[in-house]
Amino acid sequence: MAGGSLHVVLLGPPGSGKGTQAERLAAKLSVPAISTGEMLRAAVAQGSALGARVEGVMASGQLVSDELMAEVVQDRLAKDDCKGGFLLDGYPRTAAQTQTLDDILDDLGERLDHVIYLSVPEEELVRRALLRQRDDDTEEVIQERLRVYRNETEPLVAHYEQAGLLRRVDGDRSMDEVTAAMLEAIR
Ligand code: ADP
Repeated sequence: MAGGSLHVVLLGPPGSGKGTQAERLAAKLSVPAISTGEMLRAAVAQGSALGARVEGVMASGQLVSDELMAEVVQDRLAKDDCKGGFLLDGYPRTAAQTQTLDDILDDLGERLDHVIYLSVPEEELVRRALLRQRDDDTEEVIQERLRVYRNETEPLVAHYEQAGLLRRVDGDRSMDEVTAAMLEAIR
């Protein structure tokens, strides 16, 4: 495919503002924002077979299995709207998922261009998480999500740093400032 495609991963803890920024950035870059969390919540809301499989795991703050996520993401990234690139929010979240994403991109004849890491101090994360609390989120589940993030996902920062793909952005600023910094980081 001709040069113009852009493949970006957004990495950051729960509460870092990834979802909001993914939407804003995708609009600016004219690529779809693909949020695995949103996709799974939609599946649960629709009562689909996928939704039934992931509902309990999501409610507990744990991760859906790498195998199931691989199917979900592979199907999604094969769709026509991803031909010019995409912005992934919420995937990969584990070391195994980084490998799966590489394999999917390989099959498509593409590669990852940037991994934007949104960093936000821990106490700000907890504050934001409590503010935006969804109905079914107890403080316990929020803490569990942060714990899973630290154990499973945070190590990906070093992985992508070594790969030369990591772009760090300070997420502890106004939404507009963060969007501008993200755009600057991938120019
Ligand atoms: P958060 O609310 O922490 O920002 P998301 O909205 O991205 O998280 O995702 C909500 C939930 O969906 C996660 O806690 C997890 O159970 C599931 N999920 C989303 N993406 C993935 C993934 N890549 N691997 C495993 N589980 C995922």
